[in-house]
Amino acid sequence: MFLMESFFIFFMFLFGLIIGSFLNCLIWRLYKEETVLGRSYCPKCGQELKWYDNIPVLSFIFLKGRCRFCNDKISWQYPLVEIITGLLFAFSYYFSLQNGLSFLELFFYFFVISLSVIIFVFDLRWYLIPVWVVIIGGILIISLNIFFGASILNILLSMLIGSSFFGLQYLITRGKGIGEGDIWLGALFGAIFPDIKLLILSIFLTYIIGGLVAMVLIIFKIRKIGSRLPLGIFLSLSLLIVLFFGKEIVDWYFSLIF
Ligand SMILES: [Zn+2]
Repeated sequence: MFLMESFFIFFMFLFGLIIGSFLNCLIWRLYKEETVLGRSYCPKCGQELKWYDNIPVLSFIFLKGRCRFCNDKISWQYPLVEIITGLLFAFSYYFSLQNGLSFLELFFYFFVISLSVIIFVFDLRWYLIPVWVVIIGGILIISLNIFFGASILNILLSMLIGSSFFGLQYLITRGKGIGEGDIWLGALFGAIFPDIKLLILSIFLTYIIGGLVAMVLIIFKIRKIGSRLPLGIFLSLSLLIVLFFGKEIVDWYFSLIF
């Protein structure tokens, strides 16, 4: 039984590598506003890639991180996104075994992970939130959560709280420090967490992580005080933490109070 489980966890890692590779491609094409269909190509020289140059992680190693045609460096983003997605998928599967999740619930985890990878990379590279991904992803998330038994009213309320939290900041700071995209992300978080306690935790953690990262960057003089950090990267990190450990953190917190 143990061997079987390990095999499936490894299989999910490989599956995650492939999805990670797809996410890399999707991120680039969304940014360039191209169709998602069509063969992969080198972003530098435009040469279409052979299938064997498209194998997650392995191709990067064999090509020593350079394009076969123009010898231009391939971004570390590609293998990193693949490996991280692989690890997160493997962990989700392990988590689903531990918690007795259904196949559809596991799919929900895979989907939220994919969304947060897209948001993370997009905001880190271009200071942008891909709003259409958030909207289309949000609709699927809402449908799944209704299917899992969440009430529509709870979902809408949570979405309202999430979006108005960032919306108010947007109004107060007049769009400095917070972008329109973050308001959409607030709504997405509400859709993912109809349980308002989890929503609040996810927002709270975003600022804790953001504060810690900013402190480290300032101490090591990588960034100056007052320089802008993309909020979306902290939101996506917080999203993953709350997705897996949110219930336990909330229970632990309330056990401290009462
Ligand atoms: Zn090239």
